[in-house]
Amino acid sequence: MLAEIKQLLQVQELDKEIIHIKETIARYPKVWEQVKDKLTKAREAQALTAAAEEKFEKDKRRMEQKLRLTSDEYRRAQTQQNAVKTAKEYEAASKQLEHVKRQMEDIQKRAELLLEKEDETKKAAADAQAELEKIEALYKSEKKRIREQFNEKKTHLEQLEARRLEEFSRVDAKSQLIYERALVRYPGNSVVPVVNEKPAGSDRGTNGCAGCYFEVLPEELVRIRQENDIITCTNCGRLLYEEVEYSSEHSEVG
Ligand SMILES: [Zn+2]
Repeated sequence: MLAEIKQLLQVQELDKEIIHIKETIARYPKVWEQVKDKLTKAREAQALTAAAEEKFEKDKRRMEQKLRLTSDEYRRAQTQQNAVKTAKEYEAASKQLEHVKRQMEDIQKRAELLLEKEDETKKAAADAQAELEKIEALYKSEKKRIREQFNEKKTHLEQLEARRLEEFSRVDAKSQLIYERALVRYPGNSVVPVVNEKPAGSDRGTNGCAGCYFEVLPEELVRIRQENDIITCTNCGRLLYEEVEYSSEHSEVG
């Protein structure tokens, strides 16, 4: 294999790693947004249920006050009824007492209905509070984890880029240019082997570029084997090389 190709294959391996790590780094802002979004939602849910609980407590106090007031009124009406002198007065007082009694019963009924919601309201608020605390803890640990991983990846990327620069500097300028041109279009896949596709039942097939499967002509293959120059695919411009089949060599030895 041409030395430049061998070297460029090493550069390509580093480029693949660089591409992968850059993709990972690019995903962090989105991951972080999701974590922040979760916290916002938990805060909203907590605020909503806490407000509902507060409203419930207010309604309950108001209801209790109303109950006290009507009870007082009822007692007053009873006293009044006991104090009447005439049958006519008695009739009026009885009516009043009956009226207050109905009022009191109505309030009691409403109070019962309200109190039925007490457990549910308090449970929802407590659950949302517990969930918020859980999310807040998660937010903190995730913030730390994401920051650490981000810095780790960035350091790793810098190391890879330094190594890449070093490996790439060992390639001659002309080959560098050919590689860089192909890299723009086929990141991490710009140096490819020639593959031989054999139709079923035939022992001779056509040679093609492993990148685009365009045919590699016999004279091009000869030039690749001469190892004098970098040969590129006439269709896609990828750098071509011939794969050495170690496995068949080994089997011959065995
Ligand atoms: Zn090609």
